[in-house]
Amino acid sequence: MASIRELHKQLIRKERSAVEIAQNALERIQILEPKLHSFLSVTTEQALQQARNVDDRIAAGEEIGLLAGIPIGIKDNMCTKGIPTTCASKILENFVPPYESTVTQKLKDAGAVMVGKTNLDEFAMGSSTENSAYQVTANPWDLTRVPGGSSGGSAAAVASGECSVALGSDTGGSIRLPASFCGVVGMKPTYGLVSRYGLVAYASSLDQIGPFATSVEDAAILLGAIAGYDPNDSTSLNVEIPDYAKSLNPDLHPRGRLRIGVIKETFGEGLDSVVEAAVTKAIEQLQNLGAEIQVISCPRFRYGLPTYYIIAPSEASANLARYDGVKYGFRTPESEDLMSMYTKTRAAGFGAEVKRRIMLGTYTLSAGYYDAYYLKAQKVRTLIKQDFEEAFEKVDVLVCPTAPTTAFKAGEKTENPLSMYLSDLMTIPLNLAGLPGISIPCGFDQNGLPIGLQLIGKVLREDQLFQVAYAYEQSTSWHFQKPPLH
Ligand code: GLN
Repeated sequence: MASIRELHKQLIRKERSAVEIAQNALERIQILEPKLHSFLSVTTEQALQQARNVDDRIAAGEEIGLLAGIPIGIKDNMCTKGIPTTCASKILENFVPPYESTVTQKLKDAGAVMVGKTNLDEFAMGSSTENSAYQVTANPWDLTRVPGGSSGGSAAAVASGECSVALGSDTGGSIRLPASFCGVVGMKPTYGLVSRYGLVAYASSLDQIGPFATSVEDAAILLGAIAGYDPNDSTSLNVEIPDYAKSLNPDLHPRGRLRIGVIKETFGEGLDSVVEAAVTKAIEQLQNLGAEIQVISCPRFRYGLPTYYIIAPSEASANLARYDGVKYGFRTPESEDLMSMYTKTRAAGFGAEVKRRIMLGTYTLSAGYYDAYYLKAQKVRTLIKQDFEEAFEKVDVLVCPTAPTTAFKAGEKTENPLSMYLSDLMTIPLNLAGLPGISIPCGFDQNGLPIGLQLIGKVLREDQLFQVAYAYEQSTSWHFQKPPLH
């Protein structure tokens, strides 16, 4: 699909109407969905209505913003008023939110055209989108492989041109990993930059919403539209939002020399050699563009994964206590008393991975184990944050692979949760520290599968991340390659 700026130009020059653009996206969805399964629901009528509104505004001579008339996919864990929001769980099968999440409200106000709600791992727990209770999404580059997770539906939809851009959520890597596996741009902003109001909570101290796009500029435009203070989210930051897209410059360091740190601990054992080669080449390219490259040690980076798998399930066990058959979604028809209603509802409503997390989290928060697990994990979280703080005294931006491998085969890791968890080794530490990160395409493996480069920024320096990502993107041609789909 054309870039946001290109579509915008076509709209204001009246070369194409918003309805035509929406119809094109909906047709593509219809053709590709039998193969991809990216969407849990396609909102045809609402999309065409939103597009007509944009066309009316253009016809009336009104000025429209960049996102007006742009087809967008929304991960199905963000509440959309009057439109089912399932979190890919049986327990929310019939849940129709009575309110709108802040991000989708902002997009509506900007005139964006939502074409549907995208598939995910149930409650965003997973790395392959195979934990969805409804369908398995395929990777557009190879239909036998996973798109990554948990926002796999959004990543596959954008990579295949079913929509122009999409939103995902990232608790431990769920935007960046699928972006890497599907060869698109995915950004997790600083914790608190984007409101979580209306995002169904997984692990509240880690969750952030962010953009998927086929270019850095499109991602920057989308983040600019959803970021900003929201009194409905108590962790929302009250800061000025820069115009991320406006300041993009193909020159890597328009204002002085840029220092980039390579995280030593992310290389070596466990890293696929083809990924290592591509990322090394990308770092050389950044050097060619004028960056000063340093090797940086983050010795406690490797504790990120075990720390995350204490903290995230603990928070999830508390957040998911609300699904008891009383207020939301599914309730078992077969219960003798209140207690059996609770237990039978939850036994039938949640999938295996969600139950595993609830049990883990309940255990680590229980009296007697709290100090040994949860409290200890919180202390290690602080140490991981300190590693980043020390690194950022020496450099402006950190770089490493987004994932240790390229997309794996569907079914390859479903029997072994630990091997699945390892996919997030390099993305999780950022969530623990609240830092922004972006994954951008940096090559292909021997099977033609995309490889992702992760850039990590200082708190609230999304502008700098976009700038480095943009300069790299403009000096390479990876983003011009499209998956072989018809
Ligand atoms: N794969 C990680 C998990 O299963 C991260 C998920 C996410 O970022 N939502 O928890």
